[in-house]
Amino acid sequence: MFVGIGYDVHKFTEGRKLILGGVEIPHEKGLEAHSDGDVLLHAVMDALLGACGLGDIGIHFPDTDDRYRGASSMELLKTVREKMEVEGYEPVNVDAVIVAQAPKMAPYSEFMKINIAEALALHPARVNVKATTTEGLGFEGRKEGISVQAVASVEEIGHRPPPAGPKDRT
Ligand code: MG
Repeated sequence: MFVGIGYDVHKFTEGRKLILGGVEIPHEKGLEAHSDGDVLLHAVMDALLGACGLGDIGIHFPDTDDRYRGASSMELLKTVREKMEVEGYEPVNVDAVIVAQAPKMAPYSEFMKINIAEALALHPARVNVKATTTEGLGFEGRKEGISVQAVASVEEIGHRPPPAGPKDRT
């Protein structure tokens, strides 16, 4: 079993949708980004890639590449899952904390969790999404942006014991 960490920050800007964990959240501002600005999924992807020793999303999806302009981070997350599998890893669990003064995340966190679980082909119980404010402190507290911290664990697919065959049952 291996673990990885992910951290990302995006700043609020006018005229963009706020998308977190693939969920569009009603809010007067969205997050500035080359992609859809899904800061939660960016941190989760970095945690997964980190656990596999595969660098970070900047390497796999460079923001200088026009293919990723406005990219759906849900699609990128599915691609990360595929890349992991090619390298011989599969996710075990994901935990993330969204740090934001506003909006309230609680009504949406269950949907975010289900989206992440589906993209990773994980049982929803293996994914956890929570949120906190900073009591008004720092850039998150001043509502200038949102940060997310995530951790993920993975296991090597090839290192699992093989399933018991008929001979092993005798
Ligand atoms: Mg990002």
